[in-house]
Amino acid sequence: MTQTLPETSPTGAAVRTVDAVVIGAGFSGMYMLHRLRQQGLTVQVFELADGVGGTWHWNRYPGARCDVRSMEYSYSFDPDLEQEWQWSEKYPTQPEILRYANHVADRYDLRRDIQFETRVESTVWDDEAERWTVRTDRGEVLSAKFVVHASGCLSIYKTPEIPGLESFSGPWYHTARWPREGVDFSGQRVGIIGTGSSAIQSIPVIAAQAADLTVFQRTPNFAVPAHNHEFPPGYQEEMKAHYPEFRQDARTSMLGIPHPPAEKGALEDDPEARRRRYEKAWHDKDNTLVDLMAAYTDMLTDKEANDTAAEFVRERIREIVKDPETAEALCPKDYPIGTKRICVHTDYYETYNRDNVHLVDLRKTPLVEITRDGVRTTEQEFRFDALVLATGFDAQTGALTSMDIRGRAGLQLKEHWDEGPRSYLGIAVANFPNMFIITGPQSPSVLSNMMVSIEQHVEWVSDAIQYVQEHDLRTIEATPEAEESWVEHNAEVGNSTLFPTANSWYMGSNVEGKPRVFMPYIGGVGPYRERCDEVAAKDYEGFVLAG
Ligand code: NAP
Repeated sequence: MTQTLPETSPTGAAVRTVDAVVIGAGFSGMYMLHRLRQQGLTVQVFELADGVGGTWHWNRYPGARCDVRSMEYSYSFDPDLEQEWQWSEKYPTQPEILRYANHVADRYDLRRDIQFETRVESTVWDDEAERWTVRTDRGEVLSAKFVVHASGCLSIYKTPEIPGLESFSGPWYHTARWPREGVDFSGQRVGIIGTGSSAIQSIPVIAAQAADLTVFQRTPNFAVPAHNHEFPPGYQEEMKAHYPEFRQDARTSMLGIPHPPAEKGALEDDPEARRRRYEKAWHDKDNTLVDLMAAYTDMLTDKEANDTAAEFVRERIREIVKDPETAEALCPKDYPIGTKRICVHTDYYETYNRDNVHLVDLRKTPLVEITRDGVRTTEQEFRFDALVLATGFDAQTGALTSMDIRGRAGLQLKEHWDEGPRSYLGIAVANFPNMFIITGPQSPSVLSNMMVSIEQHVEWVSDAIQYVQEHDLRTIEATPEAEESWVEHNAEVGNSTLFPTANSWYMGSNVEGKPRVFMPYIGGVGPYRERCDEVAAKDYEGFVLAG
């Protein structure tokens, strides 16, 4: 199907021509804009929110912080930026990260090319003009040579699939759309649905404020202690003195977080030695969320090895939580540790020792409906003044499949991804020329320090665009063969691990009707980068370049 570009938009305004449209002004979109502008392109960024920051703009729930250490969850592209910005603690809070995002936007004068409070409704490839037609909810129409989707892996939030939310008479809040002015739960009876990362961070904070908090848990999660702390004097200066080496280690590491490689399998150590390793990963105040799983080579490939770490965490839960029945309900038992995203907590398990906190195990008494007064399970109705939904996202593909994206001959991306995402390197899709995805499915993305993966993708994509421009080419497009072989490779690597045994959002299993496919690339950040660099060095092997 060919769509001829109209000369005016539906509002009568002229169709605006730019070199590139970037969708999203989170950390991906901001850096993409900066790079493309440096290359002399005209760029229009569209952002739904009224400010920059992406996920950190929206997720303002109590206790929200990053679970990657601040000094590595930051841009590395400008040594002056990384030297001048001062982080205050090990894990940065949402307000601190948002301040950083705003600082970056100001420092590089990004806002003049970002249009906020605008939803991109469609991006349609015009086969004749060989350009993208981009339409927004404000009635604007743009013609762009390139489109970069920087709309995030966790941006389409979901509410629980049970009836009645609209009948609840009190206020309800989704963790991913928290009111900017905050919420005061003092004196209130609060119910929270979900026990993923967002809930695990917010539950201790809400419990400390509310009169009463009831947690509705369907699947317990493994959480390791954050040991968050303010930086001791001199720490930041010392880190900054070695930033280049540290950043390089992150880029070549498996997860974008430097970590010495494990030397042996878990069962090769005797139980006492193994325990010492796990204890260190658990108690070390400078630990990270990868330490436990990175202790041995086979934690994510051998169930028996994995069980040793899972049991170690269950023992800690039983130690911390005083009521044995609650402790047992909080112990994950039906999926290997690490195959659902490990959470990082501050006083999460301890919170269940408070008199005003109650756990409802939905495995025993499932949710039936949300009522006018609260929540009904198969056992009873609970009455609440306010409800919190920490029920997650249509992850990795949601932002892309919810937009009308059409490539050659009108092919819809949603249709192309009917049986799961298909991409080349998680960056490009066959039949969608001049379209790039930052941290798309089938790239390390959510299995890595996002900042490292974002920078790698933005730099790779801007280099590819520069190549097209410098060689006077019209299009760059992944071949169906390259896409097919990347999809196969992705599945092969994913299926060699324990990940597919869990019902996780990595697998799409948290969204009804979504194909059950392991979506992120587990081959490692360093090896993946090498592959991408090799593709570029071979004049974009696996792409057709036309001009
Ligand atoms: P999530 O991990 O998907 O957790 C959603 C929770 O809601 C799960 O416990 C899920 O149970 C439950 N749930 C969903 N629908 C339900 C229903 N109908 N009935 C009962 N329970 C229901 O979402 P999230 O906590 O927002 O976290 C998503 C991801 O965002 C994280 O994994 C992480 O990657 C990222 N994140 C990071 C940070 C950080 O940096 N610290 C913080 C927050 C989030 P089931 O497990 O049974 O489906």
